[in-house]
Amino acid sequence: MGEFDLIARYFTRPVRPDGAAVLGVGDDCALLAPAPGMQLAISSDMLVEGRHFFADVDPEALGHKALAVNLSDLAACGARPLAFTLALSLPRVDEPWLAGFSRGMWKLADAHGCELVGGDTTQGPLNICITVFGEVPPRQALLRSGARPGDDLYVSGTLGDARLALEALLGHITLPADVLARARQRLERPTPRVALGLQLRGVASSAMDLSDGLVGDVSHILKASGVGAVIDVDVTTNLIAASAYLSSGRGHFDAELMRRCVLSGGDDYELAFTAPPAQRGAVAAAAAASGTAVTRIGSVVAEPGLRLVDGQGQPVENRYASFDHFG
Ligand code: ADP
Ligand code: MG
Repeated sequence: MGEFDLIARYFTRPVRPDGAAVLGVGDDCALLAPAPGMQLAISSDMLVEGRHFFADVDPEALGHKALAVNLSDLAACGARPLAFTLALSLPRVDEPWLAGFSRGMWKLADAHGCELVGGDTTQGPLNICITVFGEVPPRQALLRSGARPGDDLYVSGTLGDARLALEALLGHITLPADVLARARQRLERPTPRVALGLQLRGVASSAMDLSDGLVGDVSHILKASGVGAVIDVDVTTNLIAASAYLSSGRGHFDAELMRRCVLSGGDDYELAFTAPPAQRGAVAAAAAASGTAVTRIGSVVAEPGLRLVDGQGQPVENRYASFDHFG
């Protein structure tokens, strides 16, 4: 199978009559027609074998994740997904792998009405780069720079389970099969919070998605906004879905491991966002309308820097730096 047969078989579908794409795969460029007056939101994320995923990961999960991490960026901006491109470097044509990968990708793409409109395919080490295009009304995009002193700080969903799974897959800890299976879902099939991001337009003062760990990622919001924040570590640590197991006595209860997973774990793909206290009702309504749990974990303060406190308000030493590819 050659390059063009491969593209035709696994990565080509007719454009949706109701979609934003006027022209999809097959020509030199795709053509997109966002709704009149809308701004385009654009983001790229690359997944590299050995760096972002194990070589033997389920290809269907990988197809899902490659698109999910990109949709997560649109979610963080409050943008509606329209289309994406796929640049793929493959060591060889492996049809079962391509079938699985494309199945995982199409399923998530269809769930969000997001169309594959083009890309590039070359031979080389396994490397997947997706670029997503979304739309957002002018001045309504959720940015990192809008947090103000007095705002509440929130996160969606659960945190830390992806990292817990990674620790187990690396052999650093052992987990019972059922606990590992659930945590592994979070690592390999993250849920982009697109519906929540749309609901937070006009409600949140700032937002970003959590890919590299809560502490480091929230610091990006603080820097961009010129503010600081206080995070309640105990409230946050409860957000690891595996906490029930870890504190049940079935497993070794390691409070520090839980903190590390939740605060610096990475791969969560939840949203962190801020909103003024006057918006608490609106935040709850956004969470309900999108079917996404949201938890208030702290507040924004004027003094720069991120401070961690426990449930009693006592300071917790911050040694929860995020992942940095070149750090
Ligand atoms: P060009 O020679 O203009 O770079 P290519 O030969 O790379 O075009 O690709 C042919 C067509 O297939 C283009 O429309 C391109 O967008 C599309 N394409 C290539 N690889 C992929 C892919 N992995 N997924 C989707 N579309 C792809
Ligand atoms: Mg090309």
